[in-house]
Amino acid sequence: MSERILVVGSVNLDFVATGSRLPRPGETVTGAVLRSHPGGKGANQALAARRLGAEVGLQACVGLDAMADEALSLLRAENVDLSKLHVHPTSPTGVALIAVSADGENQIVVAPGANERLLPEHIEVIDASVLLMQLEVPIATVTRAAEMAKGLVILNLAPASAEIPQSVLERADVLVVNEGEGQAYGARLDGLGALIVTTLGARGARMMKAGRLVAEAAAPKITAVDTTGAGDCFVGALTVALLEHRTGAEALAFACAAGAIAATRAGAQTSMPRRSEVDALLRGA
Ligand code: ADP
Repeated sequence: MSERILVVGSVNLDFVATGSRLPRPGETVTGAVLRSHPGGKGANQALAARRLGAEVGLQACVGLDAMADEALSLLRAENVDLSKLHVHPTSPTGVALIAVSADGENQIVVAPGANERLLPEHIEVIDASVLLMQLEVPIATVTRAAEMAKGLVILNLAPASAEIPQSVLERADVLVVNEGEGQAYGARLDGLGALIVTTLGARGARMMKAGRLVAEAAAPKITAVDTTGAGDCFVGALTVALLEHRTGAEALAFACAAGAIAATRAGAQTSMPRRSEVDALLRGA
């Protein structure tokens, strides 16, 4: 088994239209400015881990279209291993349509497209020492990958899904949720053997095991500019720290620092920091 991370997850292209205000149902708001950015939780977390120095592969499914090239551009630039990438002949690459108003409110519609075509039979071997997943690809695929993994399984339970089998929660070594997701899963997370990491936004994060606090970390004080991708950055960084056998407290501090840096910059993938930046923040530089 190689000392690396395999992410099984989503790839999206995010189209962000920033306008004066959000439309009501049936209404058209014109005059917006359009930007597109690579996204998807799988791709974001893979890029975050790679920028922090890990060897990372991503198993995902995109469409046979130009959106795929744009969605994968930053992963390719950073040499994320895409040898397990699937290209579906007819489904389009996953897309998130995001409308943002002048005061920063948003409305998001996701069309998963090819992400829905990442099937259990695509998961043949998991030869990485860490398997990292989220819930933006079919639950059956997540389930199969969790069953095949021989090493550490880290599962970010986002977006919250009631369909995730209890057997997958039991197989996971680390489960990561934000506060809302933690509430959505409720008692399902009780009595598991996994480390349960909850992100708390500007308050940092905590790590529990069997109902007891293992570690906690405060978030560094920063001025948040755009928290898109901060949660994904946190998960990628936590995974790298655990791959390096850091303690719970060290891993949380590292992940909180990485997430905080991502929150100070616009965009999701473009905001992911490099290791030197995270180390500098932790040193108080
Ligand atoms: P999500 O964005 O997935 O809902 P959170 O809001 O809990 O998740 O944020 C994830 C992580 O990002 C936090 O644990 C923290 O490390 C970092 N973060 C987010 N917002 C801030 C902030 N305002 N200041 C510092 N760190 C932040």
